[in-house]
Amino acid sequence: MTTTKFLLPESGIPETWVNLMPDLPSPPPPPLHPGTKQPIGPDDLAPLFPMGLILQEVSTEPDIPIPDEVRDALALWRPTPLIRARRLERFLDTPAHIYFRYEGVSPAGSHKPNTTVAQAYYNKQEGIRKLVTETGAGQWGSSLAIACQLFGLECEVFMVGVSYDQKPYRRAMMETWGGTVHRSPSALTSAGRSQAEHVSGSLGIAISEAVEVAASSPDTHYALGSVLNHVCLHQTVIGSEALAQLELAGEYPDVVIGCVGGGSNFAGIAYPLIRKSLREGLGTRFLAAEPAACPTLSRGVYGYDFGDTVGLTPLLPMYTLGHDFVPPPVHAGGLRYHGDAPSLCALAKSGIVEPRTVAQTAAFAAAVAFARTEAIVPGPEPAHALQVVFEEAAAAREAGDSRVILFNLSGHGHFDMAAYAAYAAGELTDLTFSDADVEAALAKLPDAPSLT
Ligand SMILES: *Cc1c(COP(=O)(O)O)cnc(C)c1O
Repeated sequence: MTTTKFLLPESGIPETWVNLMPDLPSPPPPPLHPGTKQPIGPDDLAPLFPMGLILQEVSTEPDIPIPDEVRDALALWRPTPLIRARRLERFLDTPAHIYFRYEGVSPAGSHKPNTTVAQAYYNKQEGIRKLVTETGAGQWGSSLAIACQLFGLECEVFMVGVSYDQKPYRRAMMETWGGTVHRSPSALTSAGRSQAEHVSGSLGIAISEAVEVAASSPDTHYALGSVLNHVCLHQTVIGSEALAQLELAGEYPDVVIGCVGGGSNFAGIAYPLIRKSLREGLGTRFLAAEPAACPTLSRGVYGYDFGDTVGLTPLLPMYTLGHDFVPPPVHAGGLRYHGDAPSLCALAKSGIVEPRTVAQTAAFAAAVAFARTEAIVPGPEPAHALQVVFEEAAAAREAGDSRVILFNLSGHGHFDMAAYAAYAAGELTDLTFSDADVEAALAKLPDAPSLT
């Protein structure tokens, strides 16, 4: 009757990353150069990324070897546990079997270091001195800071204004690991100066600032925390470990659930299982939880858009709310992004992944119930996935089936206790955006071939 934990020995760290691209029934169209509107080539990305990562970005190999140095760094906290949430099952009075991967055991407390150690490794290999990036809730910036420290690189971070103000300890963590942190929008870049009136900032604006700094110096590269293929690729250790652990548990999921900001932790848990489901015709369901305040897959349009606010990045084929849409400042800072990974958008478009929207207060109610049963305090981002787990558990009760649910608990909420305090005080509201704001942002999509 107690919680059951499935652990793998250290040697259980996967030897390859899962590249879903060659298995996609309808792969996404190529990213386009923002000026010429032609498909971008490796040279276009070279000012920002090392060739090792660019090759992964365009790879059609189904399995990509993980370098030993990267596996060695991953071994600091991997494999992460698979846990059966029996106390939660009892609390929800559901016949469903609920399993979760817990990524909060990493140094930064989330899944993000899975990719930062890989990105730091490939940059170091190519003689880069410094990595610069943006961060939302601070998870990404701290994950990059520790990875840079492990591989001997400098680290500079533009942090979304609202999070910088709400999360001083996340900033202290980045600085402890040797990183330099700026509040975004900053006066250090022309992108930041041009967006100064958006005082609370957004991931899009911070990306613009980081890209500008990286592009203007040859020994400095950019690191992106989500959306791109190589980031999704690096996260697939989550799903590959899950497959091995589920075998130990003697079960296989009927439904897989993750939250979506840009799509990387969702890709991490889901892509290895999507590949298996497609190859073996398993019919597993895959549910993507997004915040009602930034419902990219549910409410966005499918088209080419910039990855950032100012329009410096390549045009990506994705569901988008418009690159200059500034989502309301919900506490799940990591989910406030106007687009999503092109691979995930292609999966949503073909119906393999179903989006679900979750209101902020419902997410926190689910998170508190989880904390009181399974003892882990979830980050506000995976709290959105949890609410969808609750809905599936209720559906199982009504249907009287014992469906197996697997979800990714992408990180803990130890740096989000101010949000929990606001929830407890009844001060948290379901922030909404105006339709006019979305329409205005969508009217400014770049002029590019339409995708239907
Ligand atoms: C950043 C973050 C997310 C959202 O990013 P994805 O790329 O969509 O995974 C989700 N959960 C946690 C804990 C995060 O730190």
